[in-house]
Amino acid sequence: MRKKQFKTESKKLLDMMINSIYTHKEIFLRELISNASDAIDKLYFRSLTDRSVSLTRSDYAIFLETDKAARTITISDNGCGMTEEEMEINLGTIAKSGSLDFKRELDDHSDVDIIGQFGVGFYSAFMVASRVKVISRPYGSDKACAWESNGADGYTLTDAEKDSFGTTIILYLKEDTEDDNYSEYLEEYTVRELVRKYSDYIRYPIKLEIERSEKIEGEEDKYRTVKSYDTLNSMIPIWKRPASEVTEDEYNEFYKSKYYDFEAPLRVITQKLEGAATFIAMMFIPKHAPYDYYTKEYEKGLELYSSGVMIMERCPELIPDYFSFVKGLVDSSDLTLNISRETLQHDRRLGVMAKAIEKKIKSELEKMMESDRENYESFFDAFGIQLKYGMYTEYGAHKDLLKDLILFRSSAEGKYVSLKEYVSGMKDEQKSIYYASGESIERIAMLPQVESVKKRGYEVLYLTDDVDEFALKLLESYDGKSFTNVTAESLDLSSDEEKEALKSENDSSTDMLEAMKAAIGKVSAVRFTSSLEDHPVCLSSEGELSVEMSKILKRMPGADGVPDASVVLEINMNHPIREKLKELYENNSDALATYAKILYSEACLISGIEIEDPVELARLISELMLK
Ligand code: ADP
Repeated sequence: MRKKQFKTESKKLLDMMINSIYTHKEIFLRELISNASDAIDKLYFRSLTDRSVSLTRSDYAIFLETDKAARTITISDNGCGMTEEEMEINLGTIAKSGSLDFKRELDDHSDVDIIGQFGVGFYSAFMVASRVKVISRPYGSDKACAWESNGADGYTLTDAEKDSFGTTIILYLKEDTEDDNYSEYLEEYTVRELVRKYSDYIRYPIKLEIERSEKIEGEEDKYRTVKSYDTLNSMIPIWKRPASEVTEDEYNEFYKSKYYDFEAPLRVITQKLEGAATFIAMMFIPKHAPYDYYTKEYEKGLELYSSGVMIMERCPELIPDYFSFVKGLVDSSDLTLNISRETLQHDRRLGVMAKAIEKKIKSELEKMMESDRENYESFFDAFGIQLKYGMYTEYGAHKDLLKDLILFRSSAEGKYVSLKEYVSGMKDEQKSIYYASGESIERIAMLPQVESVKKRGYEVLYLTDDVDEFALKLLESYDGKSFTNVTAESLDLSSDEEKEALKSENDSSTDMLEAMKAAIGKVSAVRFTSSLEDHPVCLSSEGELSVEMSKILKRMPGADGVPDASVVLEINMNHPIREKLKELYENNSDALATYAKILYSEACLISGIEIEDPVELARLISELMLK
């Protein structure tokens, strides 16, 4: 007998399993059946290419047995089996990459999160069993080995006898407690229910051993026990059943167990196509972004099946980046079982499928936006940024596909609007789609320019994500309407008379404005404006690059060459500050420079721009107070 210790991270997870208060402990059966099915898949694959494996599909099965007296459940398969080394590697070490990443946070999270989100495979057995024994014999070998553990003191490996290849797992159930009734897993009824609920679609028969007593013919009152097997699962993959016959619950359970999500999906999308490519697709839009969605580690893709047999776990070519949040699978009878990755990538049909899938997802999202707005908005909260990046990347190649799926918050009560909705609410004389960008909705709503545009009855889109303004710049226009940043210097909503008055005001004050510009030193101009309401000053930008865009670009790596936005300090022509400034200028007062600097700082604060020298600002203000 060889005694071994678990790896540290496995130990942590095991401890958690043993002490689990998880309410869905029943998933252990699903996990073990799924492992058995995977093991059979592996052997089945080998049989396709390796002539020495002389098995046919109908030979394969997963067997379940319960023994009430011994309190055991046994799960057996005739799959590939494991050697001693494989058992040590596979069962002695945690396998799920997701939970591995998560282990750092194990201490602060309840086990519920981890079990629900990742599934824990083989180790879930320890939620219900105090001892687990695995006896395995690889196909083609006559040597079997037994792995045994109580989860706590490591595990042992011993030579064993097994008369056929495959793996047998025996669970010695825990004693019942007030909260947990483990004995129920020994009931035929429960086992049937669990298989139906979680493992119905498994492609191999799951056979439960049934014992019946049978009367012995010709003898009085004599019975014998007869064993037989009942197949519990329909073996039809859920996606091959007519969509109308599959319940919401079934879809949800399938999704949750397959994609390790603790929440049901927001939407299920089924698609069936015949023609240039024939396939069935079953896709899901998750309710929330997976924990690694916005990291480099996240890998998009749909599973690829050929007539019910999985041939690729993740096929990224089937889904565009901007829809990378979609989970699911595609089953096509067009593809042969042993198609290689390389051949597949060049298969024209794959492209046809991808196009059809993209179209379907788009139309489902549109439908959802129209008829299920609340869910669409929560979808957009989770994944909207991905769609906006999709508009922006590849030089806007997909902007037309995506532009109607985008929502922005707006000045209309901070609600979400689509561009289409915005345009349909535009005033007759309104020429542009107005927007303003900033760190938060609250911040943007306070901008003086937003206030004045709103006062004129125009709606303003509030752009808070870094990508927003860049995406709109690439889009250029929507429905013939251009986009205008309300903080752009060129924004002019005034009447001809107002324009005239403003021009003469600016012309007559050129020298004073120049003097202020020189004192500030950081602006390209100082000008009067007539478009502010109560605020004395604001900043606006000249040219293509807005203040926000320049701020964002400067935060990015390699930002050395990013130019500053060309900034103009605008002074409200109708504010009493105008007279004050003129008076200072006429009296040749030094205070004009101080005023200019303070007003500039004020405008920076309002725009959310950091003040370069706050100490200097504080000094100037105090000096002024003492005058
Ligand atoms: P996962 O199934 O996600 O890889 P598990 O912890 O459930 O993680 O299983 C770890 C590994 O043990 C599997 O990847 C597989 O190689 C092996 N394994 C588990 N059960 C079986 C089985 N019934 N037959 C053969 N190998 C198995």
